[in-house]
Amino acid sequence: MNWDKVYDIVFVGAGTAGLAGAIQAVKNGDKVLILEMAKPGEFRSSMSVIAGVMDFPGTKYQKAKGIEDSPELYTADLVNNCGGDYDLCKAMTERLHKTLDMVENDLGLVPKDVIGGWGHSVGRCHLFDGPKVLRRLEEKALELGVEIAWETPGKELVYDKTLGVLGIIAENAGQEVAVKARKGVVLCTGGFGYNKKLCKEFGPDHLQDLIRLMPPTHTGLGLEMALKIGAATRDIKHALKCSLPTCIHTLADTSIQYLGGIVVNKSAKRFIREDTWYGYLGDAGAKQQDGIYYIIYDDAIRSRAKKDFPTWLRHKEFKGDTIEDLAKELKLDPKALKATVDNYNKMAAAGKDTECGRTTLDGNFGSPIPVDKAPFYGMECKPSTTSFKGGIRIDTLNRVLDWDGYVIPRLYAAGEVTGGYFGKGGYIWGTMTVMGMTCGAIAADDAHKNKPM
Ligand SMILES: Cc1cc2nc3c(=O)[nH]c(=O)nc-3n(C[C@H](O)[C@H](O)[C@H](O)COP(=O)(O)OP(=O)(O)OC[C@H]3O[C@@H](n4cnc5c(N)ncnc54)[C@H](O)[C@@H]3O)c2cc1C
Repeated sequence: MNWDKVYDIVFVGAGTAGLAGAIQAVKNGDKVLILEMAKPGEFRSSMSVIAGVMDFPGTKYQKAKGIEDSPELYTADLVNNCGGDYDLCKAMTERLHKTLDMVENDLGLVPKDVIGGWGHSVGRCHLFDGPKVLRRLEEKALELGVEIAWETPGKELVYDKTLGVLGIIAENAGQEVAVKARKGVVLCTGGFGYNKKLCKEFGPDHLQDLIRLMPPTHTGLGLEMALKIGAATRDIKHALKCSLPTCIHTLADTSIQYLGGIVVNKSAKRFIREDTWYGYLGDAGAKQQDGIYYIIYDDAIRSRAKKDFPTWLRHKEFKGDTIEDLAKELKLDPKALKATVDNYNKMAAAGKDTECGRTTLDGNFGSPIPVDKAPFYGMECKPSTTSFKGGIRIDTLNRVLDWDGYVIPRLYAAGEVTGGYFGKGGYIWGTMTVMGMTCGAIAADDAHKNKPM
């Protein structure tokens, strides 16, 4: 093989996992290249559009709010509430303090606040600014000497059945570039939301039309490269999941149901407890008529959103002085919506939701509250998907495994391209980013120990 370039470790994808992994690799003393399919500044990584919820257990920020937490508790939440693999989740959560250290000391960022969220037994969602995190990751990687080859997608792994992965073929301006990776290749290419073939193959039929909120660079190329050389998958049939309720008109997402709003379908009937994980809500919503559902809330809930979660109001809002007026605006049956809201309010006052079993506001805190302070509001939603929860099968060192459970030498994967952290279950808010960053670094550390080829 004639190699055009030689590096110790090649990361594929300059996003959350790739940049964090490359920072760790270069700190370990390795010569590092990131192949990136997008142009500089182009919408490429999910991190650049997220609010920036990142989970860290047992931090000083939690302690300042009197919250007791630990990696063990976070692992238990992931295993119990998401069906995550215990060993993978443990390896990841135990290293999170190093990721937070990197965020604080290398990126110079601190969280604005720490809050709770669905599935977390304690408040551990640290609020950062997603685009800023990505920008700082990129700046730091370049400052430390990581090379980024922009507009150069990785296309095919160079693989020898006996020796393992030797490098990768990339493409730049129509020319093939053969890049040798002496210690390993780390796939950090994100999910496969924009790969119709893979979505059809692995996703359920009723979720094929989900609104996509991830970047168009999530083409599934990394997954396809790995599958081609015999990599196994994990939880992939559960990868295509619904995420946040999303506005058809503005593509903005919301979670205003967690402040007390109720959710109804086109028949103005509730169909799920609103305090469940938003993915389950979306999944049930996708099965309603036309895949549409409505969040109904009142002025008190809106005022709280305005104060604490203003981005949840970027949705197109419909308004009415009475529930019947609001129903007309939403083109729902006024009598049916009034009956649903009245019944809900009675149950909320009595403290027992006999209809859908809602017991809290957001799965963690608060009791259901009546929706009775005029004016009333509604949002028309379709389920969207933000990130994939299954992918390439890896071990606790982020080495890629084949279908017999053997390691494919010198091939690693990190971030959304992998599976194993969420099993068949749900997802707890703020895990994807920290999983990606931490696992990129785990892969970097293990690859560093490989004998260079
Ligand atoms: C709207 C939205 C909100 C979200 N909110 C949160 C949140 O608050 N908290 C949280 O934890 N998670 C959140 N997520 C999910 C989280 O942001 C992502 O799962 C995570 O950032 C993915 O990291 P990654 O490194 O796997 O992929 P990305 O960061 O997306 O990076 C993938 C990179 O690979 C590149 N690439 C792809 N294929 C190739 C190829 N063949 N060759 C070269 N380059 C390639 C892409 O261009 C991209 O730069 C959200 C996602 C979305 C869309």
